[in-house]
Amino acid sequence: MNYVFTPPPTPSVAVFGSEDRFPVRRIFCVGRNYAAHAREMGRDPDREPPFFFTKPADAVVDSGETVSYPPETENFQYEAELVVAIGKAGRDIAEADALSHVWGYAAGNDLTRRDLQLAARELGRPWDWGKAFDRSAVIGPLHPVQKTGHLERGAIRLTVNGETKQAADLVDLIWSVPEIISILSRSMVLQPGDLIMTGTPAGVGPLAAGDVCTVAIERLGEISTTIGPRE
Ligand code: MN
Repeated sequence: MNYVFTPPPTPSVAVFGSEDRFPVRRIFCVGRNYAAHAREMGRDPDREPPFFFTKPADAVVDSGETVSYPPETENFQYEAELVVAIGKAGRDIAEADALSHVWGYAAGNDLTRRDLQLAARELGRPWDWGKAFDRSAVIGPLHPVQKTGHLERGAIRLTVNGETKQAADLVDLIWSVPEIISILSRSMVLQPGDLIMTGTPAGVGPLAAGDVCTVAIERLGEISTTIGPRE
């Protein structure tokens, strides 16, 4: 069998302390998962079950890279997030078994065209144009569970040009990692290579060309992104 053109390379995420790469299959994102962020977005955190959106696998960007200010937006924003990497397939996964499906964890930045996202929300349209654009998922390096263990708590912090914009703790997640995996696996068969961005704390805000944005999570270190001019 011949492809009609050379297939694109497999998207992948760095692995901490290794030359190996983690191949990416899909990127699932949790919509609102910290109460204070749900409130700042004008929603009631107590009454809404978790919901998901996705980004294409090839939206991944390594730490240390420059991301150009994207097209069609005047309100490009950061979102610090814990990222969960799935290493074992499963459907209808029980919460008690969920962590056995986790390969590792990373810090991530769910880059967002907020103006397009909010316009879509108001019109009842899909979020893709606000969330699933090129180079919209800064992720990694991944820390294998075998070395780092699981993360039930720990500080998560985002800075822009050294100034703290988001500061919270993973223990404040409305839906825990086992709950998210269990709920997701009722709708989709999870597969190795799937990534889950678990939602962002309060304090989201804009980025400008020239900004340096970092996300630090306790035990996962820090990732950094420089924003470049619009291409
Ligand atoms: Mn997010």
